[in-house]
Amino acid sequence: MTSHVEVALPLPLHRTFTYRLEGPVPPPGTRVLVPFQQSEKVGWIAGEGDPEGISGIRPVRDVLERVPSVPPELFALARWVADYYVAPLGITLRSFLPSVLSDGAREVVRLTPAGRHRLEVSEKEGGLPASARELLEAVGRRGGEARVGALRHALAKRAVWPALRRLTGEGLLEHETLPPPDPPIRTRKVMRLKHWIPDLAERDERFGRAGRQRACYELLEASGGACELGVVLDDEGFSRSVVSALEDKGLVAVEEVEVMRDPFHDGDIPPVPTHDPTPAQSAAVTEIVGAADTRRPAPFLLHGVTGSGKTLVYGRILEEIVGRRGKSAIVLVPEIALTPQAVARFRGWFGSEVAVLHSALSAGERFDQWRQIRAGAKRVVVGARSALFAPVPNLGAIVVDEEHDTSYKQSEAPRYQARDVAVVRARLAGALCILGSATPSLESWRNAETGKFRLLSLPDRIGGRRLPPVEIVDLRRVRPAAAGSDGGEGILSPRLVAAVRERLAREEQTILLLNRRGFASFVQCRACGEVQECPNCSVSLTYHRARKRLLCHHCRHEEAPPERCRSCGSQEVSLQGAGTERVERAVAMTFPAARIARMDVDTTSGRWSHHEILGRVERHEVDILLGTQMIAKGLDFPRVTLVGVVNADVGIHLPDFRASERSFQLLSQVAGRAGRGDLGGQVVIQTSLPEHYVIQTALAHDVVGFVRRELEERRSPPYPPHVRLVNVVVSSPDRALAADAAERVVGWLRERMKGPEGRGLELVGPAPSPIERLHGRWRWHFFLRGRLAGGVTTLLRAVQDEFALPAGDVRLVVDRDPVALL
Ligand code: ADP
Ligand code: ZN
Ligand code: ZN
Repeated sequence: MTSHVEVALPLPLHRTFTYRLEGPVPPPGTRVLVPFQQSEKVGWIAGEGDPEGISGIRPVRDVLERVPSVPPELFALARWVADYYVAPLGITLRSFLPSVLSDGAREVVRLTPAGRHRLEVSEKEGGLPASARELLEAVGRRGGEARVGALRHALAKRAVWPALRRLTGEGLLEHETLPPPDPPIRTRKVMRLKHWIPDLAERDERFGRAGRQRACYELLEASGGACELGVVLDDEGFSRSVVSALEDKGLVAVEEVEVMRDPFHDGDIPPVPTHDPTPAQSAAVTEIVGAADTRRPAPFLLHGVTGSGKTLVYGRILEEIVGRRGKSAIVLVPEIALTPQAVARFRGWFGSEVAVLHSALSAGERFDQWRQIRAGAKRVVVGARSALFAPVPNLGAIVVDEEHDTSYKQSEAPRYQARDVAVVRARLAGALCILGSATPSLESWRNAETGKFRLLSLPDRIGGRRLPPVEIVDLRRVRPAAAGSDGGEGILSPRLVAAVRERLAREEQTILLLNRRGFASFVQCRACGEVQECPNCSVSLTYHRARKRLLCHHCRHEEAPPERCRSCGSQEVSLQGAGTERVERAVAMTFPAARIARMDVDTTSGRWSHHEILGRVERHEVDILLGTQMIAKGLDFPRVTLVGVVNADVGIHLPDFRASERSFQLLSQVAGRAGRGDLGGQVVIQTSLPEHYVIQTALAHDVVGFVRRELEERRSPPYPPHVRLVNVVVSSPDRALAADAAERVVGWLRERMKGPEGRGLELVGPAPSPIERLHGRWRWHFFLRGRLAGGVTTLLRAVQDEFALPAGDVRLVVDRDPVALL
């Protein structure tokens, strides 16, 4: 029986492809290997195909699995994500799975005897075009066989396929596609009892004087019938020959067994905290668990001030849902490395049932976790954004901790917002969804107001502790005294210095925040005012003192600091705008005896560096922890009694509609790190904008006041949550081309929007993006704003198909519900 299937491929195209297949149509989400142009690709069955009107339909090369790697519930979610975020289905499916399952088929070319001969004869006789000749030589240099991907590199930017076609056409090369590699599975050797001799007299007879053999046999018996070979040989000291003798007698067998690689496997599981929940915590748990019995539980927004014990609420809910009702749960955190304490609590509660999906996992380790989750062996999944797509059977609850965090938005296709998709996944599964934060996003506030979410509050800190008092230092008054100095006296006001000194004297800890890394955020000529910019981006370069380089924080361009101004030749260059490196120096000079740790992107490049730094703080081997927004997320250190914000103005004036919201959240979150223990706490914020409503509301811990004001600010012109947005960025290395393409796309869209799809939509732009150049590309953008129903996807897919021109190198990026318009 011949059938036809639609296959979704991981390509930037909004369509599926039709293939022929012998046998019945496999379920959607099944991985298949299909021929595509000159090569083969891994794709997913999207449904039954219709051969009507299509010629030259090719057969599916291979069905790669019997059970679909994307189960039906996740396949439905993938469809939703692809539609809502205007992303190709194949690319979306790929992002749902561990990378080993979507590694493309590997194409290999090999020299034929004729090809070898041709390589040996002289150049003149060749008669091949230069690119074909080069390709042939490149294959020769690699010993006669090479991956096409590698050759692409060898031919620089020129196209490989035309040359390849020519060479295979002439019989000089042969081309073969190897199937995708089997996902790596690690094994270990286990010795197993095959034949048991219960009768001791018989045992005496069988072993006779072979005492070591008998001892080894009895070791296995005592270990429940199996033991790792390594243990038998190394720890117990039996020799290889003893093992072989037992094998020869048919009493034991040595087998290879798969190992699950869990990076936490030798870390100790921390003890379970034994707190009884407070009345507020109990009330929240009861209400949420109660909703599990309703047919379509509404999502919950758990607004709990910093230190109100949200983690215990999550834990108690999961105890009920996972522990008692036997379901599974997913817990999303902004970033595993930055939330080790929360992760440790879940491991304490649920032990080996917890799968921790963190970014330091290798592809193989990730795959192992994925298999265990799918098999139902790990029923609590803790991870960042993409853990939302873990294939847990029987999903009972999803928790999104710190739901306001911008890391929940993915910055490449599919550009999904995990917090929003969590709500959708929970709805599809009939599961609970709990979004928690001390500073909820405006979107979630709005949803709580309109009744889409149910709002629950934990208004007080645990143990009757107060939120720490916040004090403002007006930088306009203290700064001039230190102007021009590089020693950093202008960085810490006398007030902040005194506060830190008190902490040091009392052996308490301090956290200092400056959300800008490097030493100086720009380098400016004193004579002409010229600022050193990145050659690829329209941003200034940051001076990093430790490396003595100027770096671009967007494209990673780096260069030596100039000896003299490029514009006027003056040797007077000044370093402006402090970053964390400079704060570190100022702190070290002011408090020479203090133990200081700095945490920012530059100090945390190693796999476990976050853990290492936070571990030192926890053990009180650090007096002052300073860093960027990394140190503001969820940390719970009772000895931290002072939080200082070195400069609260950073970020407040970014040309983006969420700049105020982000600044408020950052200030509130970092302030929330102070006074979590019995020692009390205090916050000092340095700013030159003391009257700004962000500062004023943060000062009073007034989340509701901030939200009210910010909702007003976003009313006119309207921004989310009053309206929804899709931002479209058109970019090109050619400045004129970017502008021109943006105009053409907008012209086309405006015409289309006169139809029914444009109802209720407004198009704003085009205009150059606030960061006009990035990674060498000029950027224009426009946005659609309005109610944004399903019609917008149709509209934007049409735009992408219409303008999917690889020619001229114009790129079009569609970002629905953007976190920023920069
Ligand atoms: P949040 O995430 O809301 O800022 P956490 O969940 O980190 O707060 O809890 C803050 C601290 O209070 C933690 O040290 C936690 O162990 C402790 N805690 C939580 N609930 C209780 C309770 N019911 N009794 C005593 N201590 C608690
Ligand atoms: Zn100059
Ligand atoms: Zn750059």
